[in-house]
Amino acid sequence: MTEKLIEWEKATQAINAAQSILIVTHISPDGDAIGSALGLANALKQMGKTVTVADDDGVPDFLKFLPHADTVVQYLKKGSWDVMISTDASDDERTGEVGIYGRAHSKTVINLDHHVTNTYFGDIYLVVPSAVSATEIVFDWWETIGIDWNHDIAMPLLTGLVTDTLGFRISSVTARTLEVAQSLMRYGGSLAEAMARTLESKSWKEVALWKQVLPSAVLRGQIVEAVITPDDIAAVGLTEMGDAGLVSFLRKVDEAVIAVVFKQHSEREVIVSLRSKQGYDVAEVALALGGGGHAQASGATIFGTLDDARAKVLPLLEAAAEKGKPEIA
Ligand code: 5GP
Ligand code: MN
Repeated sequence: MTEKLIEWEKATQAINAAQSILIVTHISPDGDAIGSALGLANALKQMGKTVTVADDDGVPDFLKFLPHADTVVQYLKKGSWDVMISTDASDDERTGEVGIYGRAHSKTVINLDHHVTNTYFGDIYLVVPSAVSATEIVFDWWETIGIDWNHDIAMPLLTGLVTDTLGFRISSVTARTLEVAQSLMRYGGSLAEAMARTLESKSWKEVALWKQVLPSAVLRGQIVEAVITPDDIAAVGLTEMGDAGLVSFLRKVDEAVIAVVFKQHSEREVIVSLRSKQGYDVAEVALALGGGGHAQASGATIFGTLDDARAKVLPLLEAAAEKGKPEIA
């Protein structure tokens, strides 16, 4: 994939000329999705813009502490905008129904994202695959413009930086990442709160899900695998299909280089979450499955039974485990 120029000036001109701005992010939003959306929205409002933030799944409970999280809407049925900003979404399908509506009712679309699998949809690109989070790109943009920083802008951005780097623990974290975090703390973000609300937080039901699922986890060669069924979700009293962070936990297994969790959404739909150690690429695998993500964290949706999904995914993971050569032994 050819990397395109980062169009800071074009994007700045577009927002300067705009009055109404729509911000959308990906379905099943995480800390970076909501963090970047609110870090954009809270600054744009300060600049006097009329801002709407939307994603199909709203704001997950653990992110409701973020400033103005209560303004995020789940549906778009009316309205039109001068500019739509899509954040943390690698392709337009990931922006769901609000993305479809937004694209049809916005004059210009800015694609702000850090996924290596970005499809370069939209009109203006702020696509930076080397950024550890979408919030890092927002930070750089606001520094280019020179905004009046405050807690409401810094806190969501710091939260995205913390969640997408798993607390500064992934291999793409650089000295510069820590400098960005330092600036965001100076601008009013609380690192302790970002950590406590996200990485250091789990409901008892989520712990119950780990108890439910871990007994059947298996290590086969260098791949560690777990399966979550709708019955598992129901048994612990959860309502939404998710892995409660299990796939990132499984990546810790010393004997494994790739972790996979199959989440059986329905009889014919399986969501696959992939994680790998440094030097092993699961973005390629996700892309081949019609999904996307990063080299060390990616995912895809497979339309088929659990058996179909496993038959399709496991050989690709075995090949990726064979192919990868860790940079550090
Ligand atoms: P998770 O396993 O936490 O759901 O997702 C890990 C990473 O893969 C995230 O960066 C997420 O955006 C990406 N990802 C997960 N599922 C999909 C998918 O179906 N399509 C695309 N394009 N990316 C995905
Ligand atoms: Mn992200």
